[in-house]
Amino acid sequence: MAAPRESVVHGSTAAPKDLPSIDKLLRQPAVAALVDEHGHTLVAGEARALLEGLRARALVQDLTLDELMPAELDFALQQRVAARLQSRMRAVLNLTGTVIHTNLGRALLADSALQQLLSLMSGPNNLEYDLASGGRGDRDDIVEGLLCELTGAEAATVVNNNAAAVLLSIAALGRGREVIVSRGELVEIGGAFRMPDVMASAGATLVEVGTTNRTHARDYAGAITPQTAMLMKVHTSNYQVQGFTAAVSEAELAPIAHAAGLPLVTDLGSGALVDLSQWGLPREPMPQEMLAAGCDVVTFSGDKLLGGPQAGLIVGSREMVGRIRKFPMKRALRMSKLPLAALEATLRLYLRPERLTQDLPTLRLLTRPLAEIEQQAQGLLAPVSAAVAPLFSVQVRAMLGQIGSGSLPIERLPSAGLAIAPISAKGQGRALERLSSALRSLPLPVIGRIAEDQLWLDLRCLDDEALLRVQLPLLQEALQ
Ligand SMILES: *Cc1c(COP(=O)(O)O)cnc(C)c1O
Repeated sequence: MAAPRESVVHGSTAAPKDLPSIDKLLRQPAVAALVDEHGHTLVAGEARALLEGLRARALVQDLTLDELMPAELDFALQQRVAARLQSRMRAVLNLTGTVIHTNLGRALLADSALQQLLSLMSGPNNLEYDLASGGRGDRDDIVEGLLCELTGAEAATVVNNNAAAVLLSIAALGRGREVIVSRGELVEIGGAFRMPDVMASAGATLVEVGTTNRTHARDYAGAITPQTAMLMKVHTSNYQVQGFTAAVSEAELAPIAHAAGLPLVTDLGSGALVDLSQWGLPREPMPQEMLAAGCDVVTFSGDKLLGGPQAGLIVGSREMVGRIRKFPMKRALRMSKLPLAALEATLRLYLRPERLTQDLPTLRLLTRPLAEIEQQAQGLLAPVSAAVAPLFSVQVRAMLGQIGSGSLPIERLPSAGLAIAPISAKGQGRALERLSSALRSLPLPVIGRIAEDQLWLDLRCLDDEALLRVQLPLLQEALQ
């Protein structure tokens, strides 16, 4: 097939033979500087991929000679190398209104936890070394004392996350035997964590009692057999059964379990070490109350309301926690030194409860005064309006956010933010998709939510508004 002579006459279309060789490209001064900085492997690999792409385009007459100018090639190669080195995990601005957002990394670490990571992780530490005796130590010792002090437990151990804490507790205490749970509490947390499946993985037989909406003390008592290993309660953290309901509290259940010589285990999910109602937030059950009510084992998460790193915390009686700790599966589920260091620093903050709303970022966001959020929304109205004009209009409006991560799904957090609406009703859906995509493409991606045919930016979690302001010119450019 004849090549279109016309472009060749104009001298603008490049043929494959016009491409430089890889060696020649690598010798160009700017590219050589790139090799000096990053080494041969990465730069040569990207240079080869760049040339292959250009050759493919030259073969279909879709490449101009201008694009083969040294400065153009340098620039293209630099972009490719920078893109390869950009991490996949990125910081984002969470303007979804959900404070503890599982998809956006849950709790934010406190400064002291970050400092602890920085100061400890580049060198050796006493992770499993007892500085007093010079002998082997146990990594649980790093946080056990603190957890016992904060919850009143006799003993504590920690694992990778709360799902692991639940799995391990059931396996260690109930493997090969029966575990009694109310039908109303057979939760699915998301990400394939479903209580009946966890039971099966742990090797225990689930014995469901009661009904979806009502379970009574006699249901548990009547299900106890010589095969029973434990009674279990699960906090229904991501839904609520309403209407004609009945559930048996831990305080009622503990005597029933203990009369039969069985332990009572409760999975709190989020669990809060402080009473959130003191800040006007909905009350979450606390591990210390559950222990006081007679539970033998309580499990909860490190990165939900606790405000720390991913972790599964297990507190309870010396005997039960001892059995859990000694169970071989513990070794596979143990915490790594990184989150463990962050967890210790986070727990230490609880020794100064009066300072918690300043020291724990997640709690600081949850307790941000509404008036402050509203004021921030008013201040951002004009600059954001200017950035999204003329396609969109912006309004300040009241919004309802949520705590997130399965905490109290029906309790909403009054908040405020900006609602951005397409001016033209035609192609509204596409316009909104374009706007949210432009926001997600910013250097610090902005994640909002679409509601009522508008894009909502809930400002509760916008601690530092400069992070949004400085990006507005880029947003404007992207929408042109
Ligand atoms: C969140 C949750 C879990 C899982 O905790 P992770 O720390 O995410 O592993 C287990 N049970 C309940 C009730 C939960 O809410």
